[in-house]
Amino acid sequence: MANGWAPDGAVQDQIEDSIQDALKSARARMPTGDGLEDCEDCGDDIPQARRTALPGARTCVSCQVRRDKHTVHSTINRRGSKDSQLR
Ligand SMILES: [Zn+2]
Repeated sequence: MANGWAPDGAVQDQIEDSIQDALKSARARMPTGDGLEDCEDCGDDIPQARRTALPGARTCVSCQVRRDKHTVHSTINRRGSKDSQLR
């Protein structure tokens, strides 16, 4: 299946590169092993149990909840989606 200019397998190589790039950026968005001992928002200790369960955690639970709420609030119209689920 030669296409005139690229060696066989070049397209497959390109796909593999794309997958590797996607994996790399996905990993970059996930918390990694560089968690903090103290919450970066309020400075409280992050409980050991939380750091064990979520390596890479950078906030205490209450600050994380506040961040999560903020994210949900800013991206989803909760009232609207609830209405549409009831119909
Ligand atoms: Zn905190």
